[in-house]
Amino acid sequence: MKGPVETCDVAVIGGGPAGLAAALCARRAGAGTVLVIERERALGGILNQCVHDGFGLFLYKETISGPEYAERLAEDVAREPIKVETGAMVLDLSPDRVLRINSREGYRLVRAGAVVLAMGCRERTRDMIEIPGTRPAGVFTAGLAQNLVNLRNLRVGNEAVILGSGDIGLIMARRLVFEGIKVKGVFEILPWPGGLERNVRQCLTDFGIPLELGATVVEIRGRDRVESVVVSGVDEALAPLPGTERIIPCDTLLLSVGLIPENELSKRAGVELSPFTGGAVVDERLMTSVPGVFSCGNVLHIHDVADWASFEGLAAGERAARYAAGERGPGRTIRVSAGTNVKYVLPQLLTAGTGGVEWSFRVKRPVRGARIEVTGKTSGRVYARKKYARLLPSELQKIKVQAAVDEDLEVTCHE
Ligand SMILES: Cc1cc2nc3c(=O)[nH]c(=O)nc-3n(C[C@H](O)[C@H](O)[C@H](O)COP(=O)(O)OP(=O)(O)OC[C@H]3O[C@@H](n4cnc5c(N)ncnc54)[C@H](O)[C@@H]3O)c2cc1C
Repeated sequence: MKGPVETCDVAVIGGGPAGLAAALCARRAGAGTVLVIERERALGGILNQCVHDGFGLFLYKETISGPEYAERLAEDVAREPIKVETGAMVLDLSPDRVLRINSREGYRLVRAGAVVLAMGCRERTRDMIEIPGTRPAGVFTAGLAQNLVNLRNLRVGNEAVILGSGDIGLIMARRLVFEGIKVKGVFEILPWPGGLERNVRQCLTDFGIPLELGATVVEIRGRDRVESVVVSGVDEALAPLPGTERIIPCDTLLLSVGLIPENELSKRAGVELSPFTGGAVVDERLMTSVPGVFSCGNVLHIHDVADWASFEGLAAGERAARYAAGERGPGRTIRVSAGTNVKYVLPQLLTAGTGGVEWSFRVKRPVRGARIEVTGKTSGRVYARKKYARLLPSELQKIKVQAAVDEDLEVTCHE
């Protein structure tokens, strides 16, 4: 990249809950100049469209709505000498931490002592899951529908079917009912719900919305607008079962079929990504494979609760400030891998000799009477063990190892 280059100590890409928390903590940890770049006009990220309450229980010890949560974080940021640029987009990030930013003033380059990636995620679309049929209007991702209804006061249809039982789909099922839209059912291909149990209860059961597990949409019908969808049962390999098809008349199909960490910039910078999380491979400082580039929030791995994204932001911001001030990590790294029944574990790397580290993990499938163990791969020593009455893939879990670790680790889930 060419041209005059500005400098800052810590640059945070994305002004959602993770990015704002990172900026706050970077500043409080002593970073002199902190810059937040947010492409939208307002700070807060996805929180701005989540008008329901249930946010902030862990960070603020009370439940508030998404916009209130965003406002509190933005006010905290405004109290600090942190430079915030909204309506500005980072177009490129180089391995030596130069950001190319496009804003109303045009293009410019900023070299940062450390960078925090906090770009959030995007939703999987119809194309990605390849639903056959015609291409009429009326097919929305659940988050887009949430944006249209909550921020633009638009009505998305009259009779809806929801494919996928992720949290956003569940929350939107209830939201559509509030808007006077008939929700004919939520269909989930897996034999268990994708979202949190409390969302299944509060958003579907309480409103009499049927949830059908082990079922998927195999065809969309309609010329200009959706007229119906064809739903089918699936076998154990999740393939549609011939003979189980049913036509459900509707004018709207909402897709809640997964979120993808938004890592295009990370790739440009050469950050190593994990095939299991879709986000960066990080160590206990949340530093990626590119020195001085840290990652947190949904761009790192998908969070079900915004507070966890903020807590990760706080940790990444502090470490970014320390890196910008000259702190460098010591040498040898240990690998931490996901064993039996564990979908992923994060951080995946650990500096040898470090203790008191907390790991986030998800299980692959629901497990009753689960025992999670963190075991040394060489010694077989169990560093931490935790029992759970039940573990669900929808719930992000944490386990802490107090002892200093000097060997590769594996996190396993036993029944
Ligand atoms: C549709 C949806 C609904 C949700 N509903 C709930 C809920 O009801 N309750 C709950 O607890 N959690 C909910 N979550 C999860 C929670 O909101 C997230 O965990 C949290 O918002 C993640 O924070 P984040 O800062 O990582 O990402 P985001 O909130 O997505 O923020 C990322 C920000 O980065 C900006 N950005 C991205 N790329 C660039 C770039 N190149 N340059 C500049 N800016 C950029 C984006 O504009 C965005 O503002 C929801 C998530 C989604 C996607």
